[in-house]
Amino acid sequence: MSDLLESVRPAAEVLAAFEAATGFMPVDEGLALYAAAVTAAQRTGLPLLEIGTYCGRSAVLLAAAAREAGTTALTVDHHRGSEEQQPGWEYHDPTLVDPEVGLMDTLPRFRRTLHAAGLEEHVVALVGRSPRIAALWGRPLALVFIDGGHTDEHATGDYEGWAPHLAPDGLLVVHDVFPDPADGGQAPYRVFLRALAEGFEEVSVTGSLRVLRRTAAS
Ligand code: SAH
Ligand code: MG
Repeated sequence: MSDLLESVRPAAEVLAAFEAATGFMPVDEGLALYAAAVTAAQRTGLPLLEIGTYCGRSAVLLAAAAREAGTTALTVDHHRGSEEQQPGWEYHDPTLVDPEVGLMDTLPRFRRTLHAAGLEEHVVALVGRSPRIAALWGRPLALVFIDGGHTDEHATGDYEGWAPHLAPDGLLVVHDVFPDPADGGQAPYRVFLRALAEGFEEVSVTGSLRVLRRTAAS
């Protein structure tokens, strides 16, 4: 990992809660996300923000990093699932459908995950569409973690909506970056390339997780 990031690891019980949580992040990427979050929060004292809460797997780590640094983790999701999580699609989990309304609802599972981890106090859930919340947002952030929808519309919307709120020296983290189309969809990769072109610099690569730093040029 880059020497621009603190080499900090989450406590054993935090890691256990992360591993037990429903979601889409391997441990090595989670450790890189945690290190980036602690680094950014300690450097700036500002909040951390995630787009793509799902059931709280990565949010456990951001909440633990926020606790460590004395700040707050914010996590944005409409909790109705991405395209590929809908019934009939590859990543659908039928246990996450609200039987009364017949739609996905990942909010209850998220709340249970954070409660079980003892981290509820350190996270604020923002329930709604990312661009809508971004348009209302008016504070600088230590870190923006883009892990929401994987279409170009959603990934670009997340970048355009939230990257401008990053503090100078803040960290931008993008998940599911696959330079080779054989490995996965290209929208997060295109966001990553755009961030580089707009003056962000790469700090670390762990699996599909890229950490970038905002520079004076960005
Ligand atoms: N970070 C999670 C995985 C996120 S999956 C983990 O660690 O497991 C992607 C999530 O993004 C889904 O829950 C979906 O509901 C949400 N999402 C997709 N597009 C969105 C949008 N435009 N606004 C808010 N949330 C969105
Ligand atoms: Mg992801």
